[in-house]
Amino acid sequence: MTLNVDISVSTQALQALEALEGAGHEAWVVGGCVRDSLLGREVNDFDIATSACWKQVESVMQDAGFTVHRTGVRHGTVTATLDGVPLEITTYRSDGAYSDGRHPDEVTFVGSIEEDLARRDFTVNALAFHPDRGLLDCWGGVSDLEAGVIRTVGDPARRFGEDGLRILRGCRFASQLGFEIDEETLQAMKSRKRMLLGVSAERVTHELDALLLGEHVHDALMETVGVLCAVIPELAACKGFDQKTPYHIYDVWEHIAWVVQRCPADRVVRWAALFHDIGKPAACFLDGDRAHFYGHALLSASLAKGAMERLLMSPAFMNRVLTLVRIHDDQIAATPKSVRRALVRLGGDVGLFRGLIGLKRADALAQSELGRPRVELADELEKTLDGVIASEAAFSVKQLAINGNDVLALGIPAGPKVGELLGAALDAVIDERVENERGALIELLLEHFL
Ligand code: ATP
Ligand code: MG
Repeated sequence: MTLNVDISVSTQALQALEALEGAGHEAWVVGGCVRDSLLGREVNDFDIATSACWKQVESVMQDAGFTVHRTGVRHGTVTATLDGVPLEITTYRSDGAYSDGRHPDEVTFVGSIEEDLARRDFTVNALAFHPDRGLLDCWGGVSDLEAGVIRTVGDPARRFGEDGLRILRGCRFASQLGFEIDEETLQAMKSRKRMLLGVSAERVTHELDALLLGEHVHDALMETVGVLCAVIPELAACKGFDQKTPYHIYDVWEHIAWVVQRCPADRVVRWAALFHDIGKPAACFLDGDRAHFYGHALLSASLAKGAMERLLMSPAFMNRVLTLVRIHDDQIAATPKSVRRALVRLGGDVGLFRGLIGLKRADALAQSELGRPRVELADELEKTLDGVIASEAAFSVKQLAINGNDVLALGIPAGPKVGELLGAALDAVIDERVENERGALIELLLEHFL
């Protein structure tokens, strides 16, 4: 990998460096922003490390016109914002253990940037840059960036022993950057994986989200499954589980890894892809030397529910993921009627239906040649869906020419019956037994349902 030599620092970060150094302190941009600039990747946010203590930073930055918030002064961090762009500015420090996986229990403020770089997690994140002094690379971060390697700063077992979150960060960087994890680092991730049990669910989920959305997620999942199963134990049984059917060329885990990689980069769909087949080892039975997995989608959903509850995901998010997992293998014909029916089952959620199609396509692509017709079917489903939407044909009660008030006006008392009748009217519209027209719908209700 050839690195990008010009690091472009945002105007706000440049102004912050100038303000701090103008006041007699030392300051560098550090961490992810240096890494991503060198890789030519988009930089999310610039972080600054400085010799100034937070009170000095606060006053210098306020004088320079920034708004300052004391976001983590116990750890030496303030956030300084200019023109809506926030910068995290942290005093040089060296960290003790991180028992909450987020903040070190104890920090010691130190005198030099070199000591500050030594506390950082990976060599590629332990880089500092200054527009006049250039790049500071004490841990071989540049050569690891060039070689595409994730390696801890210092002894990996000790560094993961201090903070279990680093283990997942390493897996996540592998997926985002397409890097390999250095062998000793990977070995220590595995030998210290129990540290992940002490990391908060919120932090775990945040890292897994980023991992699943990474561009190189297949490779990262293959490389790190022995680590990830410490946070999602349901994955362990998938690794190496031979599918023994002519439809599959991969074991369950590699199939899952390909489906995640090939489905749309959407949070709901990627989580659904991760879970869609985890029930297969449990559902499997052998008929001679051929395996069957009837009912696996429901078993997958049941395991997925448990995993997502442990990760404290929101009920609304879980519902969407579980819906996709449950129906990923259901057959939906590429006809307008059947697409509208499927949309009704999804509560009229077109985005979720597109996610389902993306999942189905990826699932078929990750099978043997026998899966090809299902790839074409997914393409046809998408076309039919576009046609249904363009035709403005109804697929949710909201689109009916009558609403709840019309049903109440027929003398039906408020309650579940109103929704049932509207649902029945929608069914009739989709079955083309009646036009989606107010008079016709009211007549239908009067004739058939009251
Ligand atoms: P991104 O912001 O793209 O997720 P990043 O590398 O900037 O990646 P941040 O969480 O913003 O990650 O952290 C900024 C820097 O702080 C990192 O680059 C790394 O140097 C250091 N760092 C963050 N978390 C840890 C940790 N748990 N242990 C040691 N160093 C850490
Ligand atoms: Mg960052």
